[in-house]
Amino acid sequence: MKKNIIVISGPSGVGKSTVIKEILINSSIIEQSISDTTRNSRGNGDSYHFIDEEEFLNNLKRGIYVEHNYYNGNYYGINKEVLRTILQKGHSALVDCNTAGLQHLLADEEFQKHILSFYLVAEPEIIYSRLQHRKTETPESLMRRMQEGVTDLKVAGSGIYNIIFSTDDGNPEDLAEKIIQACSGNLHIHSDYYPSELTALSRKLTFFCNELFK
Ligand code: 5GP
Repeated sequence: MKKNIIVISGPSGVGKSTVIKEILINSSIIEQSISDTTRNSRGNGDSYHFIDEEEFLNNLKRGIYVEHNYYNGNYYGINKEVLRTILQKGHSALVDCNTAGLQHLLADEEFQKHILSFYLVAEPEIIYSRLQHRKTETPESLMRRMQEGVTDLKVAGSGIYNIIFSTDDGNPEDLAEKIIQACSGNLHIHSDYYPSELTALSRKLTFFCNELFK
């Protein structure tokens, strides 16, 4: 069975979108599956279909999402038809979602067997500094995103991801290349972390947040 649904997750601020952009530039067969969201655009070319809550809830009732999630005050959902269209072309679908999204996809009979999943992590200081540099987060939403990261890391620490990479060295080109290689079946690509180490990282992030927001 070809693993042609590539899931990429990681705490907010880890640098996922930069790595995803590099993957899309460097592979002609990997296409991003664009999720629907009710959050506002950051105006930086972020890859979503932006819709309002009424439309999202209507879509949800019609059953168009393979999975959906409520995160930081907004809905996000993966449209089944968007995934199917990419797979029918013989391409691989790249899905950017949180740990809940992967859990939902792994529970879906149609899509579960296609999934190859990657989790990206970084040290708390690096995550914080990247979120600050975005200049789009209020102090409250920055704090919520950091705290969501704690929960996300704990879930990822349960071992649901195939490969875990660190973005600490800030080299998205190399990381994108390793992900492309792993997707083409290169078995010599290894994780930077064991899942159990993510639990320790989650504790470190909790400590960092407590110190920061005291
Ligand atoms: P952001 O607002 O920073 O673009 O995304 C917030 C979080 O939602 C990120 O962890 C991102 O990976 C995740 N996300 C984006 N689209 C989806 C989706 O369709 N489903 C789920 N479960 N998570 C998503």
